Amino acid sequence: MKNKIIILGAGSSKDFGFPLANEVFSKADELANSLSNLKTRNFLKEIISEVEKIMRVLFANLPNNKKDYPPFEEALTLIWNSEKDDKFGGKSKDEAFDILVNMMGRTFAESYGFLLVRKIDEYFKYRDFIKFLLASKDNITFISLNYDIIIDSILKELYEFSAEAEIVPDFTYGLPRLYYLKIPHEPQNDLENQRPEPKNGELCRKSGIPILKPHGSLNLSFCPQCRKFFYSEDNIFTSIANQRDWCLCPLCKIKRENILVKPLIIPPLYSKKEFISKDDNVITNNGDLVVNNKGEQIVVPSIFKKYRKSVDGQIIRALSKVDEITVIGYSLPPYDYDFKYLLLKGLIKNKNRDNIPIKIIDKVHNDAEKEKLLRGYKYLAAEPEFISKDGFLNYLSKNNSSDG
Ligand SMILES: [Zn+2]
Repeated sequence: MKNKIIILGAGSSKDFGFPLANEVFSKADELANSLSNLKTRNFLKEIISEVEKIMRVLFANLPNNKKDYPPFEEALTLIWNSEKDDKFGGKSKDEAFDILVNMMGRTFAESYGFLLVRKIDEYFKYRDFIKFLLASKDNITFISLNYDIIIDSILKELYEFSAEAEIVPDFTYGLPRLYYLKIPHEPQNDLENQRPEPKNGELCRKSGIPILKPHGSLNLSFCPQCRKFFYSEDNIFTSIANQRDWCLCPLCKIKRENILVKPLIIPPLYSKKEFISKDDNVITNNGDLVVNNKGEQIVVPSIFKKYRKSVDGQIIRALSKVDEITVIGYSLPPYDYDFKYLLLKGLIKNKNRDNIPIKIIDKVHNDAEKEKLLRGYKYLAAEPEFISKDGFLNYLSKNNSSDG
């Protein structure tokens, strides 16, 4: 039995209709123009025009073709690291961040709907690949640096339709259970209930297949009021379909407070000051001063700090025991030094480091691109090698047909 890590980047969902980091803006336009429902279309166009104003504050000389825009993550990171009083096209820092996430979320939700309706055969290939991986009984940890939710959906589907109770996805995304809210009467609650307590620090299939997302996830919601997180695939996507904002917090609703939850998105190179501080009660510029139900301002520990502390810890633990790493569609872009540092931090602890194969599945057009990608993964573990150079979907098509 091996400990395997599968790293998923934007390139892993590209063939399934999702945009790469620099394609989010043009993809949003494309979607807005293709939507037949006038209300949905106008709603998205409104968000896009607000994003446009924000982008023109952040960057100079933006090209006419949005495909040549800077990566979406860079824009998010810039806003995240700005000062509390900075304004972006008349919007506050928090508003600007939410607008960008809103556009990205809607674009990804539409892409996901499109995948399930128009590209279902491709989806099945992806699903069969995961099924095959899990049939090996190896310990598999998924690390996703992307905002797509294909892997989440596949694991959920495999769990629901499989007799094998060991395929239990861990939809806490690595959060300590203390902060994770179980929603009554929701199907995902059952997944959570059937999952035995994990043994301390141990990788264990029975305690749930980890899906670790250092940059957050669109279906991991948090409530800015009660500071709880919960898995919210259905809620978020229903909200999007109904052109509403994100859904209401189920816990605050009981107290008759209509608090909107937000998807947890943390861009690369987040402000380090939150993480360096030893004092959990430090007020950061990411809004940790909240008003309690008595109307008093209180300081609470940073929600992002709790999340990243836990997820980073799990990633490092997984890397310290890993036997094999497969990287699908992730090129370690310069703006994500954050993640490269995590990789190194974990692999340093691995006694077998020099022998850990790093297998790469990606799309490269020439030798220069190939070499560039390999250089990124050099010095991490064993010499990295390509197992497919023509994209994930092509790899799946070839592999599935040979496996039968
Ligand atoms: Zn709440």
